[in-house]
Amino acid sequence: MKKSELTVIGAGASGIMAALTAAMQGKKVTLIERQARVGRKLMATGNGRCNITNIKADLPFYHGDNVGFAEYALCSMPVQKTIEFFSSIGLLTTVEEGGRVYPLSNSANSVVDTLRYALEATGVEIVNSCLIKTAKKHGDVFRIYSDEPVIECNKLIIACGGAAGEKLGGSQDGYKILKSFGHSSTAIAPALSQIKTKPDFPRSLKGVKADVRARIEENGNTIATSEGEALFTETGVSGPAIFDISRTAAVNSNKNLELRLNFFRNRTEADLYDYINNKKQKMPNLSASEVWTGALHNRLGRMLIKYSGIDSNKIVSELSQDEMSKIVRNSLDFVLPIYGTDSFSQAQVTAGGIRCSEFCDKTMQSKIVKGLYACGEVLDIDGDCGGFNLQWAWSSGYLAGLTLD
Ligand SMILES: Cc1cc2nc3c(=O)[nH]c(=O)nc-3n(C[C@H](O)[C@H](O)[C@H](O)COP(=O)(O)OP(=O)(O)OC[C@H]3O[C@@H](n4cnc5c(N)ncnc54)[C@H](O)[C@@H]3O)c2cc1C
Repeated sequence: MKKSELTVIGAGASGIMAALTAAMQGKKVTLIERQARVGRKLMATGNGRCNITNIKADLPFYHGDNVGFAEYALCSMPVQKTIEFFSSIGLLTTVEEGGRVYPLSNSANSVVDTLRYALEATGVEIVNSCLIKTAKKHGDVFRIYSDEPVIECNKLIIACGGAAGEKLGGSQDGYKILKSFGHSSTAIAPALSQIKTKPDFPRSLKGVKADVRARIEENGNTIATSEGEALFTETGVSGPAIFDISRTAAVNSNKNLELRLNFFRNRTEADLYDYINNKKQKMPNLSASEVWTGALHNRLGRMLIKYSGIDSNKIVSELSQDEMSKIVRNSLDFVLPIYGTDSFSQAQVTAGGIRCSEFCDKTMQSKIVKGLYACGEVLDIDGDCGGFNLQWAWSSGYLAGLTLD
C-alpha cells in the first residue's frame, strides 16, 4: 500500500492550499480527489471568473456557532498575503467593486491552472478519481480506504468541503469521515442561494434586476438585512443582496418569514411623493401604470402599480392621495412571503458543519484525534457573498498545512 507523510482528502480550494503549504515546507504530500481533476468547483466560482477573495475579508463577514474560531486563520493568511501568494505562483489579480478580487485574466481556469502547476512544481502527488469512503487510525498511522485501502499516512487533513454545489463536488463525505473519528456537527443548511417566495409577482418579473435594501422579517421583527442587487426568478428572488440574507431564511425555515424589499434605498418617502407630483404636473395624461418609468425597470414599475391595486385605465393626474401613498409604501416595502431557499445543489455554501470547538484554532488539528486536521467549508464557518468563502478556504487550508508538527 502507498505511504505518505501527509494525506489531504479533497482537492478543492482549502485542500489544494493545505497540500501546497505543507509541500513548500518539504513535506511528502498526497492529495486525493474523487473527481477527475483538481479544483472542479473553483472553475465554476464567480460565474466562471472566480472571485478569489475580498479586500474587506474579516470576521464580521463570517458566520457559525463559534465564528471567533476563524480569526486566527484569517490573521495568519490575510487577504494581502493571499494575493501575494497567488502572485508568487504566477496569478495576477485585480480588485473590483465591493473589494472583490478576481484574476486579471477574468477566468477561473487561470486560478486552477496556476494552482495545478504549483502542485506539480512542489511535488504533491495527486490521486484523482478516487472516492474516499472511510479512514481509520491504527496506532499512530491513518489508513484511508475507498473500496480498498488506498494509502497510509501519519497526518490526515479532511478538506472535503460542504454539501453545497453538489454537481461540482459538494458532498457530505467530510462530515461522515470526521464523525467516524468522534466529531460532531451543527445543523447544516444551504446558504448563498435564491430565496423562494410566493411566486406570482417574481415570476412576472423574471430576469429583472433591481438595486434594493432587503430585509427578512419574522413576526414584525427584522432578523436580517442587506443591500445591493436583487434578481427576480421564476420561483423567488436571487442576486447578491438576497444571497447574503439567504442563510437566515434557511436556518429559520420552520418559521413564518417575509422578504421585504425597498426599491428606493437611497431616496426618502418625500422624494418619491415629489417625483409622482412632478409627473402629475408635467405629464397629467400619462397612464398611471407608467408612473415609475424612468425611476425603476419598466416591468418592475408597472408591477408595483398593479400590486398597489391601481386601475390600469387611470391616468397620473387622477391618482388620489390614498393611491399615491399605497404606491409609495409598496415601493419602499414590497412584501413577499418566504417559502424556503434553494436546495444544496443550487446553494453556493453550507451554513453549519463540523463543530469548530472540537479543533484547535491555531493549528486546525482535532482535539479528539492527534494528527487529524480539517479546513474549509466542512467546518462550521461560512461567509457572505463576495470572495469571503474562498478566503476562509485559503486561510484555513494554509494553517492546516503549516503547523503539522
Ligand atoms: C457555483 C458556486 C460559485 C461560488 N463562487 C464563489 C466565489 O466566487 N467566491 C467565493 O469566495 N466562494 C464561492 N463559492 C464558495 C466556494 O467555492 C467554497 O466555499 C469553497 O470552494 C470551499 O472550499 P473547500 O476546499 O472547503 O471545498 P471544495 O472546494 O468544495 O472542495 C472539496 C473537494 O473535496 C472533494 N471530495 C469530497 N468528498 C470526497 C471524498 N469522499 N473523496 C475524495 N474527494 C472528495 C470534492 O470533490 C471537492 O473537490 C462558490 C460556490 C459555488 C457552488
